[in-house]
Amino acid sequence: MALTLYNTLGRKLQIFESIRQNEVGFYGCGPTVYNYAHIGNLRAYLTHDILVRTLQRRGYTVTHVMNITDVGHLSGDNDSGDDKMVKSAEERGKTVLEIADFYTKAFFNDTGRMNIICPTVVCKATEHIQEMIALITRIEANGFTYSAGGNLYFDITKFSSYGELALLNLEDRKPGARIEVDENKKNPYDFVLWFTKSKFENQALVWESPWGRGYPGWHIECSAMSIKYLGEQFDIHAGGIDHITIHHTNEIAQSEAATKKHPWVNYWVHNEFLILDKGKMSKSTGSFLTLQTLIDDGYDALDYRYFLLGGHYRSQLQFSYEALDGARNARKSLGDRIRVLAEKTGNLPSNEGALPDSVTQGKAGTYLEAFNKAMDEDLNTPRALAELWGLLRDGSVQSTDALQTAFEMDRILGLELFARAAAEAEKRLDTDRGSPEEIAEIEALIAERTEAKKAKDFTTADRIRNTLKERGILLEDGPKGAVWRRI
Ligand code: AMP
Ligand code: ZN
Repeated sequence: MALTLYNTLGRKLQIFESIRQNEVGFYGCGPTVYNYAHIGNLRAYLTHDILVRTLQRRGYTVTHVMNITDVGHLSGDNDSGDDKMVKSAEERGKTVLEIADFYTKAFFNDTGRMNIICPTVVCKATEHIQEMIALITRIEANGFTYSAGGNLYFDITKFSSYGELALLNLEDRKPGARIEVDENKKNPYDFVLWFTKSKFENQALVWESPWGRGYPGWHIECSAMSIKYLGEQFDIHAGGIDHITIHHTNEIAQSEAATKKHPWVNYWVHNEFLILDKGKMSKSTGSFLTLQTLIDDGYDALDYRYFLLGGHYRSQLQFSYEALDGARNARKSLGDRIRVLAEKTGNLPSNEGALPDSVTQGKAGTYLEAFNKAMDEDLNTPRALAELWGLLRDGSVQSTDALQTAFEMDRILGLELFARAAAEAEKRLDTDRGSPEEIAEIEALIAERTEAKKAKDFTTADRIRNTLKERGILLEDGPKGAVWRRI
């Protein structure tokens, strides 16, 4: 069965075909590192993660590129407002680079805790200024720019398919009304490629360029870095739906204006928003929840992952603590079922391998097939989760097959159900072995015996062995030292 993805470009489900056989070039817009990521942002990165895992399951080698925006992103995506990085640095009494460094680390700490796979390439805007200048030079040479008020602008009237992704009706948007007027722009949709004399005279980071000392507009970084790492045409580009109208629309215009190749990207994947009871979450107004808030409230980062998987990435998802409680209980319950099966079979799968015939040709295989089909149909995680539940609830599936199949499913869902079950089982084993004090005493005796053996004091070593045996504890010497169990 083929993989279908909903392509925002054209607004339809399409069968995915990669440009190069068995390889996928994927670019996902990364964070602007002026603050912590909020839990809505993390929905975007989870969507990227699920997409990458699905592509990998289908045998593709994925080059996943993510940018880190550490310069040039204004509070309005249409070049209006303050520079987010500069404002955050001023508010916190730090340099822009200190702020960027701190929040980049915080970002990867969050994604790591949510078991979101790290991209193949993570690239910072400030480390790719020369690539941006080179791309703007090509755009300029091809006649798509004009200078005004010290800034270099992209002239959208020169790019005939401008707004195709967002289905923009260019007549709709007249200057004034809700849009901040930049009198240098010939058209309100025009956007800045390079700032020099702008309202941010205090811009902390500036670079020499053919258009003067200044800094890049926000959109150019994604074009420059994706082209550098993925080539002039690549397979998939992703981000939140808020990026369709301005950011991604402008990325397309710049990239195709520079390379004269169309389409720049074949598939555009956009995730819907996570919303709070109160409405929209916003990083710039500070009204947002972070992963750490949820952890401080007693949840596991993977409970939040489960919660997100319960919604399809193209549907709006409403966050509530009640729903998160539900996710936590569900994840725990799945983990418990796996542990019980593992205890029954005496085995917990821990790495990938070819599935046995009993799975592929038996009942477990039908669940796995349905699971894969759900993921292949535009990443339908709620349906995939339902298949996992079905499998683990179905008493007619052989325990070993159920375990092996659930393991395969969790490699895509990334809920760490098996690691959790293993940890639980270990904890139980420890409680079966005795109280913490008793275990410490036994281990101290074993250490004493090991020392005695090293000193060739076999009388003491034997005495300790016999003392333990009288207490019902059997010692077995192995390559990693002595292990003990109760008899
Ligand atoms: P930013 O750091 O603001 O550039 O946003 C990072 C990513 O999060 C982008 O892909 C946004 O489209 C996405 N995003 C922002 N807010 C939300 C939200 N509430 N729900 C889902 N995705 C979001
Ligand atoms: Zn971007």
